[in-house]
Amino acid sequence: MSVQKESNVTIDYGDLSVTGGISVFSEEFDQVFYYDGSDLGLHYSPASSKFRLWAPTASEAFVMLYEDWNSPEGTKIPMQRDVKGTWIAHVEGDMAGKFYTYVVRVGSQWNEAVDPYAKAVGVNGDRAAIIDLANTDPERWTQDKPKFGNAVDAIIYEAHIRDYTIHDGSGVQNKGKYLGLTEKGTRGKDNIVTGLDHLKNLGVTHVQLLPFYDYATESVDETRLHEPQYNWGYDPKNYNVPEGSYATDPYRPDVRIRELKQLIQTLHDEGIRVIMDVVYNHVYDGYLVNFTKLVPGYYLRYTADGKFSNGSGCGNDTASERPMMRKFIIDSILHWVQEYHIDGFRFDLMGLMDIQTLNEIRKELDKIDPSIMMIGEGWNMATELAPDERANQLHAAKMPRIAHFNDEFRDAVKGDIFVYEKKGFISSGKAFESLVMSGIAGGIPYNDEINSFAMEPDQTVNYVECHDNHTLWDKIVLSTEGESDELRRAMHRLASSMTLTSQGISFLHAGQEFYRTKGGDENSYKSGDEVNRLDWDQAAEHKEGTQFIRQLIQIRKEHPAFRMTSADEIRKHLFFEEAPEHAVAFTIRDHANGDPDKHLYVLHYAGRAAVEVKLPELGSWQLLFGEEWVESLNDHALKVSGIGTVILVSKS
Ligand code: CA
Repeated sequence: MSVQKESNVTIDYGDLSVTGGISVFSEEFDQVFYYDGSDLGLHYSPASSKFRLWAPTASEAFVMLYEDWNSPEGTKIPMQRDVKGTWIAHVEGDMAGKFYTYVVRVGSQWNEAVDPYAKAVGVNGDRAAIIDLANTDPERWTQDKPKFGNAVDAIIYEAHIRDYTIHDGSGVQNKGKYLGLTEKGTRGKDNIVTGLDHLKNLGVTHVQLLPFYDYATESVDETRLHEPQYNWGYDPKNYNVPEGSYATDPYRPDVRIRELKQLIQTLHDEGIRVIMDVVYNHVYDGYLVNFTKLVPGYYLRYTADGKFSNGSGCGNDTASERPMMRKFIIDSILHWVQEYHIDGFRFDLMGLMDIQTLNEIRKELDKIDPSIMMIGEGWNMATELAPDERANQLHAAKMPRIAHFNDEFRDAVKGDIFVYEKKGFISSGKAFESLVMSGIAGGIPYNDEINSFAMEPDQTVNYVECHDNHTLWDKIVLSTEGESDELRRAMHRLASSMTLTSQGISFLHAGQEFYRTKGGDENSYKSGDEVNRLDWDQAAEHKEGTQFIRQLIQIRKEHPAFRMTSADEIRKHLFFEEAPEHAVAFTIRDHANGDPDKHLYVLHYAGRAAVEVKLPELGSWQLLFGEEWVESLNDHALKVSGIGTVILVSKS
């Protein structure tokens, strides 16, 4: 997310006589003008181009046809008013290669805007491009996807396209580009695997990419890519088009589309699914955005005194609850699934959106492929929407199969993210045990004490680090003054192993496997490459960190007991065991989903001194993970040397 500067633009909401006296802010507006057709936007064929625009408050509308992205003069084609406040135009002949915008008159204002439904744009996304999308498919383009079952099987790895390969030591040719993630066989210092090979080596199931829809020119100007520029991209401009700065040529509208498809196909071929970070909760500028130019007052949320609702902190919350905005969001999601084969969505500030919209997206995705994931930031935030309609953690029960990031588990493990010096479980903080247990149980109602927001484990995303706030390493440094880096790395590994052995969906941040630092920067959305890039030299320095995560991922994959699919199953098989201070221990017994005779024992220990714990009498315990911490082990007791995770297995 980024904070936008305010624009000094006034808005004309139009002449009420155009809408028969119906205000754009009224419910009646939706009843009269809701258009449910599937033909909004441009429908191209080599024989003709058909346009349909929804603009009920406009008194006149035109399609402006341009020869190029920057040609000053265009051809003005009048649109005819059609049903439900839509406007249509029909242009004979093959228009491929041309660019277009809409020009509407609303009240006394003339506005020129890009079609919100545009599927291709020119550089910086200021004009839509007319292209034949069928020509944007790469040479290899299949419907094949890596097999995937339940959402709890997901091990998500969050990366930013530029960050992932821009470092000098990445060994990648197309650094910072979509294509950078398609290169195989890349190597870094000490011959470590990098880039795509690193992802494959780790064994993650999904890569979640920070925003790659077209974001604002104010963040990254696609015409000045030779200059230092950087942004995460949480400022949407064209929702249905890929960002141009990650393409090898941002001027040619087909290139960004084809190269993104190449990236997705390559990841699919390597067995990795792709989650898209989508930001439907706010726009880059409430005044300048295409929505506001075309139907002022409709797509955004307003306060009673006519200001933009600002739950996002970005100046303008979108009104997902209004039927045509809801339709836009659903149509946009389906476009990414159908045209780009996207396998999941991460909803930025989901708590600002409304429950009905999220559930309708789930329903539409299920018609196509129920394995497409939906996760989001279900924070409880103030916005101009009735509290009981907000898609946040408090209402998880009303949104089955939609997951929320578990901030409670995150903060219990590493300490409050907003109070830098605060410790968590891993750094010897006290009284975090029951919150940790709640996370281990997947946030479900396990018993009176151990429960959180989730009804089912597929509603929880367990994580200890993401692109926001301090990295786990930086948080540990801030909260453990005077400690050695060696001890800090032990805490760091413990946090990761706690994530990967908990019920629910697992989530890792790129570089977490080698102690990623941003030098203490807690909001690096525009901090540049130096701060944000994945440092592949550091990866070479901490190969053991990558190896540690890799091994835990393998164990999670091999043991369905760590990813039980229902709350009932968790309540039946998961038992918390006796443990000393700074420790949490649990067993997963008689796990019917895996081997019914098998039991797992897990100890997460954050204490400094060696300690002996009693083991439950469940047969002969064998060591599965954590050899370096084990001082002694028999069927009744385990002694560990210090901070770490030990996993045992027994067969009775
Ligand atoms: Ca852009």
